[in-house]
Amino acid sequence: MNQPNSGGADAPFGRFFLPGPTEVHPDVLAAQSRPMISHRGAGIQVLMRELDEGLQAAFLTKRHVYLSTSSATGLMEAAILNSGRRRVLALVNGAFSGRFAKIGRACGLEVDEYEVPWGEAHDPEELRKRLSSGDYGTVTVVHSETSTGVLNDIRSLAAVVREQDDVIIMVDSVSGFSAAEVRTDEWGLDFLLTGSQKALALPPGVAFGVASDRMLRRSAESTGKGFYFDLEQFESNAEKYQSPSTPALSVMFALQVQLKRILSEGLEARWARHTAMAERTYAWVDEMRDAGVALEVVAPEGYRSPAVTAVRVPEGVAAPDIVKAMGARGWVIGGGYGKLKPTSIRIGHMGEHTVEELDALLAELTEVVR
Ligand SMILES: *Cc1c(COP(=O)(O)O)cnc(C)c1O
Repeated sequence: MNQPNSGGADAPFGRFFLPGPTEVHPDVLAAQSRPMISHRGAGIQVLMRELDEGLQAAFLTKRHVYLSTSSATGLMEAAILNSGRRRVLALVNGAFSGRFAKIGRACGLEVDEYEVPWGEAHDPEELRKRLSSGDYGTVTVVHSETSTGVLNDIRSLAAVVREQDDVIIMVDSVSGFSAAEVRTDEWGLDFLLTGSQKALALPPGVAFGVASDRMLRRSAESTGKGFYFDLEQFESNAEKYQSPSTPALSVMFALQVQLKRILSEGLEARWARHTAMAERTYAWVDEMRDAGVALEVVAPEGYRSPAVTAVRVPEGVAAPDIVKAMGARGWVIGGGYGKLKPTSIRIGHMGEHTVEELDALLAELTEVVR
């Protein structure tokens, strides 16, 4: 029997609005049932070349896009391990950006935080000030903070980093990627990483990353970077369209189908669809407020992620009860994350969802919050 709040096999498509994992289109799911192929044969090279070319179009890069058989956190750790052990300035504004700082310390690096309160974005001016000390070799930042729904202005933050001679910027766009504009080469990003199970709407199990020349030079000078997450190995294998170890073949079959879907929709159309869903959500919050239900979008205007919206619930209302009530009606939304759990809910309007499906969700949610 399907649990009421779990989605699952007998749930109709279009009711699963978790901010990751997200709902996977049936054609993409079905691709995973293809038989295995050898990960050392000619077939894998044909497949990996096709995937690389599709991913290059999505990442807006001429460089190889690495596939890592790990969740996205694996590539966050790879970024840190290949950064040359310089002092890190971690831009922290929520749970996932905080994780980047934790990974840095866990790998034995010196990490300082440029921290702003949860629900706020980072200021390029302030970043410039902090970098002018000359203390830092690496900046970490999260594009779309999935815990709060805040979108950082990666283009401006990266431009500030580029003013420095020898500082690299490593960007986690796990929930942002393919929902919000991000231009790897044009914006000068040294490492851009994402996961499969957020806006890319694939099953979990694979993460993607692109490294600049600067990043690969740092990798070459990195000591103690271990074996599995050595980016020089990723690069030399990518050049041959091979994988250093057995990759998650089934997710790659799914990716092959999903890339075709994404590129036939068009990257800019995909961004626009996400923006339309996000704006519909803000409009709904306003409608609810006009009707006397004091909801509030956590992220400030101008810094809102098109992939996920965290909504503060009225005082005296327990946010987890709303999530539960939606579950009982057969709809899945996200609970608040970490310290926002008691006071907020999260709507993951990302991946394959449409404004029409979102409207149906919001109609249901209206009845629940009233
Ligand atoms: C989900 C998420 C992660 C972690 O991804 P995993 O695939 O679970 O390791 C990291 N950063 C952000 C912004 C995320 O949304």
